[in-house]
Amino acid sequence: MSTQGITILGATGSIGVSTLDVLRRNADRYRVEALTANRDVDGLYAQCVEFAPRYAVMADPDAAERLRARLRDAGREVEVLAGEDGLRRVAALDEVDCVMAAIVGAAGLMPALDAARAGKRVLLANKEALVMSGALFMRQVHDGSAELLPVDSEHNAIFQCMPPAWVPGAGRPEGVSRILLTASGGPFRQTPLDQLADITPEQACAHPNWDMGRKISVDSATMMNKGLEVIEACWLFSVDAADVQVVIHPQSVIHSMVQYRDGSVLAELGNPDMRTPIANCLAWPQRIEAGVAPLDIVAIGRLDFEAPDLARFPCLRLAQEAWTAGGTAAAILNAANEIAVDAFLERRIHYTAIPGIIEATLGHVGVQEAVSLDVILDADRQAREHATRLVHDVSPQKERA
Ligand code: NAD
Ligand code: MG
Repeated sequence: MSTQGITILGATGSIGVSTLDVLRRNADRYRVEALTANRDVDGLYAQCVEFAPRYAVMADPDAAERLRARLRDAGREVEVLAGEDGLRRVAALDEVDCVMAAIVGAAGLMPALDAARAGKRVLLANKEALVMSGALFMRQVHDGSAELLPVDSEHNAIFQCMPPAWVPGAGRPEGVSRILLTASGGPFRQTPLDQLADITPEQACAHPNWDMGRKISVDSATMMNKGLEVIEACWLFSVDAADVQVVIHPQSVIHSMVQYRDGSVLAELGNPDMRTPIANCLAWPQRIEAGVAPLDIVAIGRLDFEAPDLARFPCLRLAQEAWTAGGTAAAILNAANEIAVDAFLERRIHYTAIPGIIEATLGHVGVQEAVSLDVILDADRQAREHATRLVHDVSPQKERA
């Protein structure tokens, strides 16, 4: 059997590390062609030593210089590239069959689009890329004859519950009446509302069921993550937000469900471990070892469901409204959220200021038809500028000064 060449964009992150673990267990099937990171030189160096890729890319040029020197001193033959050009190059290499898009946020958009244009199997973890540019992204997948497979656990579950041979981009799947998108509700599902203002980044990043990067952990706490996932589902599965019902399911055992016209509801269950959807996408339509513990359904005992409270989770409402508004609204929502979450993680704003900044940015930046990448990137830039001003205005440090 010939091996498949893999590029991992965002190799040092939570998804990147889980992907490498699945590859380690299936070394006879895959070879690592390229690994990328932002500026974690130690992390990427260790991965280069273990997986011996042909290329390593650091988004940060100084970090690239340091990685290059270390690999050279250790006698390792890895070509080190830098910046967005480097990321884009390794996303589209001829010798690469499959690209894991696991950079966090808008920074991952261009290489993910390049992988689609180059006709790769694109394993999409970087939901922000699709949220920003859904129509364009799906067109790129079609025009490049790429294969787009969802890594996000909910979307991977939905994909597994779709009719046989159906793939994202193939139009609305036959017989599907509704998607039930499950959500854990995050760490603050039951926290009294008057205590939310004092939540710290450490509390927000301590997710009850999943171990993830810091940005998506905060998004899970605010449920912006579920809002982004509603939009992600609309693009992947060719449905409308009204067809996607968000259901809180605190155990995170059912990863989402698909309801059919005849009343059947199909679900995918498993332990909350991202190696399952990663392995599913890597090997699809085959199945490979993922290192995930078997589900002990008896020990779990019960599965609970409830409707989300939009007063507690205004970010979910904002995302649904952005989908309805269409055009560049989702790109504006995403950019404002990235700025607000960053500011919260750096303790510049309170947790409860996040939705207000996003809503005000959506009200300020005019929504355009998302006719081109330039229009989308311009909306992203304007939203970042406005949200940054708002962060400055509400910053507690400024109040104290
Ligand atoms: P993370 O913060 O752990 O890792 C992010 C990776 O992206 C790192 O390798 C980092 O070096 C790289 N990166 C960050 N900024 C960059 C930049 N400006 N340029 C280039 N590279 C950059 O994040 P994560 O939790 O692994 O999440 C990655 C993506 O996958 C996100 O879009 C997230 O929403 C999605 N996702 C994650 C999970 C999960 O369980 N962690 C589940 C579903 C979806
Ligand atoms: Mg998810």
